[in-house]
Amino acid sequence: MVTQINQMKSLKAQHHFLSDPQHQVEVLEEDHGQHFPLFKDKLQTIGLYPLKPTGIEIFQMNLGKMCNQTCKHCHVDAGPDRKEIMTKETMQLCLDALAKTDIPTVDLTGGAPEMNPNFRWFVEEVKKLNRHVMVRCNLTIILANKKYYDLPEFYKKNNVEVISSMPFYNKERTDRQRGDGVFDISIKALKMLNNVGYGKEGTGLELDLVYNPAGAFLPPPQEALEKEFKEQLMEHFGISFNQLFVITNMPINRYLDYLIVSSNYDDYMQKLVNAFNPAAAKGVMCRNTLSIGWDGYLYDCDFNQMLDLKVETKNSRHILQFDEEALNNRKIITGQHCYGCTAGAGSSCGGQVV
Ligand code: SF4
Ligand code: SF4
Repeated sequence: MVTQINQMKSLKAQHHFLSDPQHQVEVLEEDHGQHFPLFKDKLQTIGLYPLKPTGIEIFQMNLGKMCNQTCKHCHVDAGPDRKEIMTKETMQLCLDALAKTDIPTVDLTGGAPEMNPNFRWFVEEVKKLNRHVMVRCNLTIILANKKYYDLPEFYKKNNVEVISSMPFYNKERTDRQRGDGVFDISIKALKMLNNVGYGKEGTGLELDLVYNPAGAFLPPPQEALEKEFKEQLMEHFGISFNQLFVITNMPINRYLDYLIVSSNYDDYMQKLVNAFNPAAAKGVMCRNTLSIGWDGYLYDCDFNQMLDLKVETKNSRHILQFDEEALNNRKIITGQHCYGCTAGAGSSCGGQVV
């Protein structure tokens, strides 16, 4: 039995109208460029339309939507009530595809990717292919059941890079966004990771944290916030980590619901549009990432995956038909949500882009 953090239901379990990705796309596109210029027109003005890949460097896989948490702003709409999970067969297809390429990095995400029963097997198989593995670990999963207590050792043994959400360095702001008790458990999990060498100088074991804003505002500069996080976590808890990734909240799934319910949608979109940065647009993560859904379908990024916008390459839309050359020549599907990646210093799964 895996301990759940709170009892909130996913949008899907609530039968919420936004649980249909098509409805989310309709909300995002209904303005038709009247108040918010079309993202594709913005790209056109800087000579980037159609947006093209620079080559796949990151193979990002969603191992399932099941999670022990139900965070307020989750862009996946993950939670304990989500049952979608990648099968071992689909994982094998991913390994077969990877083996035919030189793609250096595999990025495992979810939900809580560790809840996939074949997670450990898969990590070991990817390491046999000599690829770097990153895991998006929500920290609380490590203490959710004793079968996960040895995850820090498992990560260490396989030299997995651990990337963990930590909305803030105090309890109040973290629990408000991620659920009661999340901060205290996350601190315990971070100590467990530190104890095996993660986030410690000279060990080569990378531990990165991810910050995202608690409300309808853009994130502060990454460098200054990283310094603040490092000082605070060290002073109060003796915790160290490598980098802080600052990300912008994307107007999709539960964050889109929050924006609409709190009447912040127009203001937030305006903020994103006003902050459009051509340099950030050049570095958006879809240009070097391929996103693979739990069912094996292929997407330009994790956000397009959640909006069910599959890659445009008609003959390579599923991992079964993986064709690296065709994918490297595809046109990336963009929409109004893409403003979330190009505001200010930009935003990606690896933090700011400029
Ligand atoms: S944000 Fe991460 S930890 Fe929170 S519900 Fe979504 S997948 Fe789970
Ligand atoms: S949302 Fe996805 S497709 Fe759009 S710019 Fe960001 S990474 Fe690229």
